[in-house]
This record gives sequence, structure tokens and C-alpha cells, in this order.
Amino acid sequence: MAVAYIGLGSNIGDREAHLKSAVDQLVRTKGITPRRVSSIYETAPVGYTDQPDFLNAVVEIETTLEPTELLAETKVIEVDQKRRRLEHWGPRTLDLDILLYDQLEVNLPRLKLPHPEASSRAFVLVPLAEIAADSSVLSGKTAGECLADLEDTAGVDLYKRNWVKLDL
Ligand code: ATP
Ligand code: CA
Ligand code: CA
Repeated sequence: MAVAYIGLGSNIGDREAHLKSAVDQLVRTKGITPRRVSSIYETAPVGYTDQPDFLNAVVEIETTLEPTELLAETKVIEVDQKRRRLEHWGPRTLDLDILLYDQLEVNLPRLKLPHPEASSRAFVLVPLAEIAADSSVLSGKTAGECLADLEDTAGVDLYKRNWVKLDL
């Protein structure tokens, strides 16, 4: 059994519904048990900034899947939501990134762990630190420490708490 953290993001259509159905699908996936879910944050896009704001959240899961199996399942969930959207048209509506998988370091072409950008992205660190400030470790530092190292967290605003209920 491993503990992993999945970053969720959506910036098209009913963003909150996309995050919700991602959590629902994680719950339904064999070998994945979501344990904690962060609040949702509304975040300004970074990199290519000429696009709508995102909603982001982080989910802590327990999993019996190997990292590459977990990646495959997250891709199934992404494709599923994209399909649903394509009925109305529209590009990608959901992004699932594996941020951490225990303390495993993986450097495959298709899978890098920890996620290479996680330790520098406020939209990842704010929700991650909310649910696992001390227990999640990225490049030798806890998520809480990475967050404290950021210049600021401008552009990452609390959007909604308690937006999903897990049957624990
Ligand atoms: P970024 O990874 O910088 O957040 P992105 O999420 O927009 O960018 P995608 O197009 O969603 O990038 O993913 C590109 C590829 O990244 C995926 O096909 C996947 O195989 C690979 N990848 C590598 N490491 C990871 C990881 N830790 N979690 C999810 N995908 C990963
Ligand atoms: Ca991403
Ligand atoms: Ca991705």
C-alpha cells in the first residue's frame, strides 16, 4: 500500500463538476482509495497565461497500484472527461498529475516522480500543504517548506472548502 498525491485542475466549462467527477472516478477505481481532499483554489494560469483561470485541488490516496498503473488510471479518467466534453465541443477539461508516490523517485519518459514542477508551483503547494504540509516531501523539503520558500502565492485564492464528501 502506497500513499500518493494527485493534483487536479480544470479551466473549461463547469470546472467544479469536472473536479467532482474526477474524485468520484478515483473512488470507483479498483486499487485507489481517496483519503483526504483539499479545498478548491481558483488560480491564475501560469506559463500560457491567455486562458481562463483554473480550479485546482489535491487528493491524497492510498493505492495498491504500481506508479505506472496509477498513471494509466489517471489517463483513463482524463480521457473520459474529455469525451464527455467533446459532445458539446471544447478542449481538455481535466488534468490529473501524480505529484508524489510515497518517497519514490521515478525518471521514465512517461512518468517523473515527484512531479518535476510540484515544488515550485503555488497552485500545487497551497492545496498540498493544506492536507499534508509535513508528510509530503518534494526535493528534500516538505510541501510546507517549499510553500514558505515561494516569493508569494498571489493568484491562488481559496474558492471552496468541503466541496466533496468521502465515505471513510
Ligand atoms: P505539467 O506536467 O507541466 O503539469 P501538463 O500536465 O499540461 O504539464 P500533460 O500534457 O497533461 O502535461 O502530460 C504530458 C505527459 O506527462 C503525460 O502524457 C505523462 O505521461 C507525463 N508525465 C510525466 N510525469 C508525470 C506525472 N508525475 N504525472 C502525470 N503525468 C506525468
Ligand atoms: Ca499539469
Ligand atoms: Ca498532466
